Amino acid sequence: MRVSRKGEPLTARELQILEAIAHGARYAEIAAQLQLAFSSVKNYAQSVTTKLGANSLAHAVHLAWEQGLFRRERHGDHAGYAAHRYRDEEPCEACWAGERAYRAEQRQKRRQEAVSDPQGVQEAARGARDVRGAVRPSSGRTAARGEAAA
Ligand SMILES: [Zn+2]
Repeated sequence: MRVSRKGEPLTARELQILEAIAHGARYAEIAAQLQLAFSSVKNYAQSVTTKLGANSLAHAVHLAWEQGLFRRERHGDHAGYAAHRYRDEEPCEACWAGERAYRAEQRQKRRQEAVSDPQGVQEAARGARDVRGAVRPSSGRTAARGEAAA
């Protein structure tokens, strides 16, 4: 599982679970309702706490409330987009625009991390293989055939 970092925006699922917690639902109830493993709900709660930079889950609920993450009228950024998704709606234009900007920013950030962080380099390399994997083995075989022919 990917490690969450402080400052990362919550996913729609994380927001959904945090809101359920804020409304007094227990992990077991959330797990049953969303058909998730109990441990998954705990992981989501931990991830939310990390991303919000909170000291506890109660603190996370407070911070999310303060940042307007539970507000229905939030629009125009990744959180607004996630909120639409959480409500199972098609995101509005403003939220799509915000989401596109957010994704572009994330791609930029990943490129920068790939330069400065060796772990990031490995992740970037894995991503590159996903895209070019179909090309590389065949070019290898071509080289081998070339040698055999020579
Ligand atoms: Zn919106």
